[in-house]
Amino acid sequence: GGAAGSAGGSRFDLDKETELRFEVEAGERVQLELLSGHGEVFGSELNRNKKYTFGPGSKIAVFTWQGCSLSLSGKTEVAYVSKDTPMLLYLNTHAALEQMRRQAERDNERGPRVMVVGPTDVGKTTLCRLLLNYAVRLGRRPTLVELDVGQSSVSVPGTMSALYIERPADVEEGFSVQAPLVFHFGSTTPGTNIKLYNKLTSCLAEVFSQRCEVNRKASVGGCIINTCGWVKGSGYQALVHCASAFQVDVVLVLDQERLYNELKRDLPHFVRVVLLPKSGGVVERSKDCRRETRDDKIREYFYGFRGSSFYPHAFDVRFSDVRIYKIGAPSIPDSCLPLGMSQDDTQLKLVPVSPGRDLTHHVLSVSCVEDDIEGGESRSRGILESPVCGFIVVTAVDTQAQVMTVLAPAPRPLPRHTLLIMDIRFIDLK
Ligand code: ATP
Ligand code: MN
Repeated sequence: GGAAGSAGGSRFDLDKETELRFEVEAGERVQLELLSGHGEVFGSELNRNKKYTFGPGSKIAVFTWQGCSLSLSGKTEVAYVSKDTPMLLYLNTHAALEQMRRQAERDNERGPRVMVVGPTDVGKTTLCRLLLNYAVRLGRRPTLVELDVGQSSVSVPGTMSALYIERPADVEEGFSVQAPLVFHFGSTTPGTNIKLYNKLTSCLAEVFSQRCEVNRKASVGGCIINTCGWVKGSGYQALVHCASAFQVDVVLVLDQERLYNELKRDLPHFVRVVLLPKSGGVVERSKDCRRETRDDKIREYFYGFRGSSFYPHAFDVRFSDVRIYKIGAPSIPDSCLPLGMSQDDTQLKLVPVSPGRDLTHHVLSVSCVEDDIEGGESRSRGILESPVCGFIVVTAVDTQAQVMTVLAPAPRPLPRHTLLIMDIRFIDLK
């Protein structure tokens, strides 16, 4: 294969089992078109003679099993064809999972629960998307469990979620997120509150298992769990916890032999731990790039994909109409804890926040918890374990008038009045 300039852009002729990799320059857009043959982007098939647009910073691979011709126009930072990809190994992994689903179907058991792990920038999220796409293209209904609180592919950052997959990801937009189950974590790294992180992992596992009991397709489809790139210390312990909470059958370890050996040592013997190479195409992302992606994700929540489908609303909320909490009291030395209280209690404690100017720009989750549940211990446990029904951003606070102005996806009033504050801030420049 190779590139040849043409009127509309460059033409690439790909041999079978090769891929075209490209990155879109900052501030630019690139158009891709399949001219002949078959090609797919992370497991989503391309339609012929349709123009796909990718925005600034996109890092894309078009893989072909049979060979194809593509046209690319617009400013790319790089664009090259590679013959060296791990796609055959990934396809074999999918085939093994599909085998397990077939067996589950036959024996009236549950399908594979798969956890994808590895350090940062090894293609974990991409592999999850690929495996989910291949499964759903065969008519399966797998569930994506998104535990990466820094770069969630389902909801805004600072959340942990599950999404039932019913159709392949859109080539440009990714999976359609119509009814995800989302929990509030509140920050972009699990280390901020590892107790809460593990607790919410357990909550998601419980909800998923309940769904599997009543929905045979969900049970057979199994789940693909995407995790964070933090694989040492408490980050590693969180992976072990997740494997046990979800009772995973398969762990796919990308790129790191040490992690592979540790998990083989620490997980029960019936868990299949598999080491897979990372793709040479996976691009490392800088801190700034990650921050931008997080901002984009929040903007997308309010304005829709490419900022054109939704119109958020701005309105005032009286302090007296809402209750705002932060999860986790500042940690104090063990020796100072009141008798009978453990560090767990402080990390999972709901701390009421009195609204002040420092709330400005913070993202708040709107908890689904019923407003009328009366106070006390049972209430706070209810809030931690309740999913969220949406998000708002505080754009201004007027302490004199005791009101704050918020950006919300729907007009007033707020659907619920229990709000959870995130460490994450968003400045709306629109
Ligand atoms: P993180 O540690 O941030 O969670 P990750 O391990 O999940 O990263 P991905 O997000 O899957 O890694 O991949 C990193 C980037 O590389 C993404 O922008 C993705 O689109 C891109 N990418 C993945 N595979 C390829 C490929 N074969 N060719 C080109 N780009 C790719
Ligand atoms: Mn990822």
